[in-house]
Amino acid sequence: MNTALHWFRRDFRVTDNTALASACGLADAVIGVFVLDTRWFHASAAKMGAFQAAFWLAAIAELRENLGGLNISLRIIQTDDPVAALLSLAREVRAGAITFNREYEPAQIAQDQRLIQTAEKSGLSELKIYGYCDAVIFEEFDVLTANETPYTVFTPYKRSWLAKFSAAAMVSRGRPRMMQQSGQPQEASVVPAAKSLGFPAVTLDIPTGESGGRRMLAEFGRQRIGLYKQRRDFPAEAGVSRLSAHLSAGTISIRQCVSAAVAAGAMNGCGGAECWLSELIWREFYRMVLFHFPHTVTRPFHRKFDTVTWENNPALLAAWLGACTGYPIVDAALLQIQTTGWMHNRLRMIAAMFLTKDLDIHWRTGEQWFMRWLMDYDQASNVGGWQWSAGTGTDAAPYFRVMNPILQARRFDPKGAFVRRLIPALARVPDDFVHEPWLMPPLMQAQFGCRIGQDYPPPVVDHGAARVKAIRKFQ
Ligand code: FAD
Repeated sequence: MNTALHWFRRDFRVTDNTALASACGLADAVIGVFVLDTRWFHASAAKMGAFQAAFWLAAIAELRENLGGLNISLRIIQTDDPVAALLSLAREVRAGAITFNREYEPAQIAQDQRLIQTAEKSGLSELKIYGYCDAVIFEEFDVLTANETPYTVFTPYKRSWLAKFSAAAMVSRGRPRMMQQSGQPQEASVVPAAKSLGFPAVTLDIPTGESGGRRMLAEFGRQRIGLYKQRRDFPAEAGVSRLSAHLSAGTISIRQCVSAAVAAGAMNGCGGAECWLSELIWREFYRMVLFHFPHTVTRPFHRKFDTVTWENNPALLAAWLGACTGYPIVDAALLQIQTTGWMHNRLRMIAAMFLTKDLDIHWRTGEQWFMRWLMDYDQASNVGGWQWSAGTGTDAAPYFRVMNPILQARRFDPKGAFVRRLIPALARVPDDFVHEPWLMPPLMQAQFGCRIGQDYPPPVVDHGAARVKAIRKFQ
């Protein structure tokens, strides 16, 4: 075959990329394509945030360079019709194949099917379209119950996943060989600036691109994975890997991460590595759930919760969005996402439960808002995390278990190191009051520079009362 197109979607790397490696094996020349779908990759669409856009554009810029070194040019096509754009390019360069790595979101699956059907209908019967398993170790039908049904609870899914897993069978796809130039030399496209897509400038606080992902994984695997289990819940500590944006953009592969966990002893009793592997399996679990239960994008996983109503009070929502709920741990979490595009997992749970249980606001509002802020936004994990927090999803925390933001804060940020870092008004507040500053007598508030109502807001709701109300509603 002369030329193949590899369609990059969430796999912005050259190393260990299944579909890219396959394209390079199939054809003499390969052209990389990134279809910048303006229906979501544009600020005006309000579906992607500035942090994720900046992270992706940096990844694409590095990818373009790395591909150039292999004689593969990267075409970036801005369009609102990816299928038409791809097929038109395939026709133009007389491609014999299009390759891509499969994704599991309902919209992406529908688009892939449309690509195949449109290619057939448009007389491109010679064009072969190949999808590959790459973003996960096991796809949606690989790990099923004894009755061949999808798992809906994580622990048995994980048990089955581990029983099926063989580290020895997990082979890296390596780095593609140097390709021939296709027909006439292909000009690589210029990577658009975030500004030209309407996104405001943001500063990313982690290394980007394939090289950044690899560096971060190496550092985590060498220095921190062993203590992951003990440290992962403390937002003031560097206990977690921070690799989520890389996994979501595919600048690191799942095989590279799982291999690092195995190398650190995940199968041989290293608690930290074992626990980290478990989190990678959660990622896979939520993809499988989304595939089998696509209604969960907008509706509760459990149909019995379809009738649950939400108050959706605009003033309470504004307090949450503005990081002015008066609960330091919640506000600090919301400031963290707005300043870095990332939020610690423990805080995602606290902030999401607070929105849904204490403020009685629909989980979908929070899910959509996270989508517009997270650098690591991933529909399966986000919907899964929000439904879990709201008590409507798989493995849902039972409706009567409502996280207490004060107890959570005292346990996981005992001296307030995290909240002080993000909320200057709390800097001098004594440890005993840092998570409940409204309990300080007025004189103390003045003495420590945290006057409630002036320097820091009072709590928007009383957690005890809100909890009782939430439980009654679900009952
Ligand atoms: P680590 O603790 O180092 O974990 C390693 C990797 O495992 C992560 O990078 C991630 O890919 C995966 N992982 C970890 N925890 C989970 C989990 N609970 N569910 C699924 N995968 C997990 N994760 C996203 O990647 N994108 C999202 O949009 C997203 N939205 C979330 C929304 C809510 C309400 C909640 C509660 C969780 C959400 N998560 C999401 C899961 C989790 O919070 C993040 O993956 C994690 O905080 C990323 O930080 P890390 O890379 O340091 O994770």
